[in-house]
Amino acid sequence: MAQIRIQNVRKEFGAFTAVRSSTFTIEDGEFFMLLGPSGCGKTTTLRMMAGLELPTSGEIFIDGEEIGMKPASKRDIAFVFQMFALYPHMNVRKNISYPLVSQGMKREEVKTRVQEVARILKIENILDRPVGGLSGGDRQRVALGRAIVRQPKAFFMDEPLGALDAEFREHMAEELRALHDRMGATTVYVTHDQLEAMQMGDKIVVMNHGVVEQFGKPQQIYDWPATKFVAQFIGSPSMNFLDFEGMIGIGGKSVDLGEAKIEVPAAREGRAGKLTLGVRPEHVRFATESAYRGRVTAVEYLGTTQIVTLRSSHGDLKARIPSDRPVREGELVGLAFDARTLSLFDAETGKALR
Ligand code: ATP
Repeated sequence: MAQIRIQNVRKEFGAFTAVRSSTFTIEDGEFFMLLGPSGCGKTTTLRMMAGLELPTSGEIFIDGEEIGMKPASKRDIAFVFQMFALYPHMNVRKNISYPLVSQGMKREEVKTRVQEVARILKIENILDRPVGGLSGGDRQRVALGRAIVRQPKAFFMDEPLGALDAEFREHMAEELRALHDRMGATTVYVTHDQLEAMQMGDKIVVMNHGVVEQFGKPQQIYDWPATKFVAQFIGSPSMNFLDFEGMIGIGGKSVDLGEAKIEVPAAREGRAGKLTLGVRPEHVRFATESAYRGRVTAVEYLGTTQIVTLRSSHGDLKARIPSDRPVREGELVGLAFDARTLSLFDAETGKALR
């Protein structure tokens, strides 16, 4: 079990800064996601926690102990990579027991541990098979077995499912999460897939260009994105952004959308300036009475819901509405938003106004 604290951690490679002053805490037993687009610094952050890379500045604590200079082998963690390297000439049992045997553990104890891991991963029936002939899923379980058999304080996983096809990926994601819930060990998981992060994570750090944009529970991040970047990165289709350059009507408590007024909750009342209103597609309603209108430019049928693309005086937007409402391309519809679900950003800094 381990609590991991990252404090003002920075990493430079020559003149390039890969991670800029990151600060966040991973609580004991959490399934924690490092999320962001390619090159944002997720892997570098994980490698610093693991001791595979030294921070340029800042501190990393595991259970309160500053471990910045402690080598990887002394940190009591297990690393699971995307490409699982197994020993092809050994059977499953030998592959899993290898880390214990090489650390000199007694044979009886090794046997008990391997049996326990095989039970957890449901691979008892293949323990004596050579790994060469196994299916992708079983190979993955064996590799996981080798990581968990040491019973480390924490697991670090870098896109462990990245090489799998979509269907199998989802299945393994569920297995990983269930495994974590049974074992309870702190797990740090790197992904660029926002859906995977939302589904699996207890908490998420969203990174962009080496900067921690937001850190919190999946629902907090979805409902209250701290920046425009987070708002557009999380959720599919993305949040709509409507700009109010020059003609912001935040007077009192309403935003002026043409002739339609939208109530803004007091907590997010903006000052005058260039503002961006953020509204998720599922929070756009068709409302015949509204003076704010959009022209339908495309309709995408998704079963119970449909994604309708509209052109409005404040920009293009997408609405997710029930499929039982017939929609024609070219149709002009009145639009309304529920004020409680709106995000409001400073258009220049991209920061949410709270
Ligand atoms: P990806 O999903 O593509 O791996 P990432 O978010 O994990 O992306 P990192 O691997 O942490 O990103 O890399 C962040 C940036 O640092 C990238 O621009 C990368 O090219 C750079 N970088 C990483 N390692 C090194 C290194 N050893 N030397 C120089 N630059 C590096």
